[in-house]
Amino acid sequence: MSEHEHAGRCACGAVRFRLVGQPTDVIACHCQTCRRWSGYYWAATHVPRDALIIDAEAELAWWASSEFAERGFCSHCGSSLFYRRHDADRVSVAPGALDAPTHLATTAHICVAEAGDYYAIDPNTPRFPGPDTGS
Ligand SMILES: [Zn+2]
Ligand SMILES: [Zn+2]
Repeated sequence: MSEHEHAGRCACGAVRFRLVGQPTDVIACHCQTCRRWSGYYWAATHVPRDALIIDAEAELAWWASSEFAERGFCSHCGSSLFYRRHDADRVSVAPGALDAPTHLATTAHICVAEAGDYYAIDPNTPRFPGPDTGS
């Protein structure tokens, strides 16, 4: 495995994947759907679609979470793994599924207007009320 390849898997190991190339830093999303889906808030690194190589996906299922996007999860253990918009050329990948060390950092929080009341968001990390970071 090269230096710029990350391996990842769901909690039970039925879904295994690799990221080829350098993933972006992590953005945490506090929207209600991400919170319900993950159980807390969800966060993701982003890679081009063709940089996500799924080696074992027998248990991978996709949920159409909106008209414009779907979310990938392990149908055996329930791990919330991927998010992709139909119109986007990139896919979001849960950093918690990656093998350590990831060498990634969480650099922004989005949809904080919908944040839960059971945690605090690091005040030193940029926050955005909606789904965009402005970049
Ligand atoms: Zn699993
Ligand atoms: Zn979200």
